[in-house]
Amino acid sequence: MVEITGVHKRFGANEVLRGITLRVAAGEVAVVLGPSGSGKSTLLRSINHLEKLDRGTVSIDGELIGYRQRGGKLHELTEREVLRQRGAIGFVFQNFNLFPHLTVLANLTEAPLAARTRNRAQAEAKARALLERVGLADKESAYPRQLSGGQQQRVAIARALALDPKVVLFDEPTSALDPELVGEVLDVMKDLARGGTTMIVVTHEIGFAREVADTVVFLDEGRVVEQGPPAQVIDQPEHDRTRAFLAKVL
Ligand code: ATP
Ligand code: MG
Repeated sequence: MVEITGVHKRFGANEVLRGITLRVAAGEVAVVLGPSGSGKSTLLRSINHLEKLDRGTVSIDGELIGYRQRGGKLHELTEREVLRQRGAIGFVFQNFNLFPHLTVLANLTEAPLAARTRNRAQAEAKARALLERVGLADKESAYPRQLSGGQQQRVAIARALALDPKVVLFDEPTSALDPELVGEVLDVMKDLARGGTTMIVVTHEIGFAREVADTVVFLDEGRVVEQGPPAQVIDQPEHDRTRAFLAKVL
């Protein structure tokens, strides 16, 4: 279970997150919608402590992320401790962010080997199983530049799963892809959702949200304006801002 409680984040005078509270139970898929600048990426980055919080907490399966509570106060964890926690949080970016100088297989084994959670044989066996799962078993020796955008993003998804994360965060995973490549990435994500992976997905793919989201969250100006099952938030939104946004993306 991911628990985001009262999270605030500002950049200078710009208060980007203004008290976000959100729960995502194990095995659930939350889709986050919202206009550009509403704080979606900042929210995801706050979950794995790429951003320090000004207020509020994030915890995963009861473990506070980025901080330790002592004497009623929060103390920031060391970089090393944060890196260990990030192993439990997969992150898939808009622009894939693969290591260009590493083969596909090495992209998937890099983190498990660095974390020393697996030896090379175990890490490679796990990587091959994940490549099979995303339909790229034949690409393990390729370099990222030799792959299409859709293939690169499927490698990135496999890499995000390499440390058996408790949750996988997706930040507009299909928005940099040519339209004909979007489907293959969404299919992999649907497969993960059906397989019980806990996911928080920022996307404008409303069809995906309708099909797989347990909950849809509409964010605007750093606040959750509306949240509920897709049949409610997408098909019968309560708020004018949600309606106006959906009218643009549908
Ligand atoms: P988009 O749909 O365009 O990706 P978003 O909802 O993901 O938008 P964010 O990237 O979270 O929005 O940005 C929210 C606001 O925070 C924007 O006004 C942005 O300029 C600002 N912001 C984000 N990161 C930083 C930063 N590192 N320093 C200063 N301002 C930032
Ligand atoms: Mg963003």
